[in-house]
Amino acid sequence: MRITARAALLLATGVLFLAGLVLARPQGGDAQVLTIPIRGPVSMLEGRGGNVGVCAGPDGVWIIDTQFADMAPKLQAAVRELSKEPLRFVINTHWHGDHTGGNESFGALAPLVAHARVRGRMAQGRAGQAPAPARALPSVTFEDGLRMYANGEEIEVRHVGPAHTDGDSIVWFHTSNAVHLGDLFFNGRFPFVDLDSGGSVRGLTAAVADLLALLPEDVRIVPGHGPLAGKPELREYHAMLVDCQALVAAAHAQKKDAATMKQEKLLARYARWNWEFIDEGKFIDTLAREAAQR
Ligand SMILES: [Zn+2]
Repeated sequence: MRITARAALLLATGVLFLAGLVLARPQGGDAQVLTIPIRGPVSMLEGRGGNVGVCAGPDGVWIIDTQFADMAPKLQAAVRELSKEPLRFVINTHWHGDHTGGNESFGALAPLVAHARVRGRMAQGRAGQAPAPARALPSVTFEDGLRMYANGEEIEVRHVGPAHTDGDSIVWFHTSNAVHLGDLFFNGRFPFVDLDSGGSVRGLTAAVADLLALLPEDVRIVPGHGPLAGKPELREYHAMLVDCQALVAAAHAQKKDAATMKQEKLLARYARWNWEFIDEGKFIDTLAREAAQR
């Protein structure tokens, strides 16, 4: 197909307009909450920080993750638009501050539920991150998982990993065929893998392979970060993880260090997975560090 000059101009204008929209996306205190209905009582909320899952109905409201502390009022307003029933439970997929920052606010309204290591790591804090106040800590913990039944939904909370950290869980809404994968899944982006919190790229890749085998083909997937997805996007992410690890393992076997791998642009073919927090270079650092540990 031939593209006329006029069509090319229109296309270029469209691209610039979209780029402007992305750049104009509000940051920090200006961030707005966007509600994306998924199926039945299940929705996803986008704001600033990790994506939030909601199961709202006559039995009350369940929420998955709480973003940053300053987002709590906006998240609570968005939840009230979905249901006037009280908040019943808050579930954390893992301990990071962009998923648990609102715990103190939400924890005043309902019990906080998470894997035991989420409570442990939040209570402990780490360099550059103060221990969380007692009111922000999960009051109900589990080791392997648990199930809840509400709003006509069977809600399974299942510990997986070590993967992104050593305390990751997924929350699977069986009836509606939707799942929140927390930071096991960065949709269309390089993952942050928290080696200092017991995470592992190898573990993450294995966990994602297990999920691909486990989840139904038409499942709707809430990623920790990025837009709502399905199995095709999760499959693409898995293939990227496998290939990036193989590339770094091969370079490591040739005694190349991370600086050399970056200089040689080892992951250049995956440049479109770059984002503001993790780019090719940072992902190489993580992969090379893990390769050196073996
Ligand atoms: Zn995280």
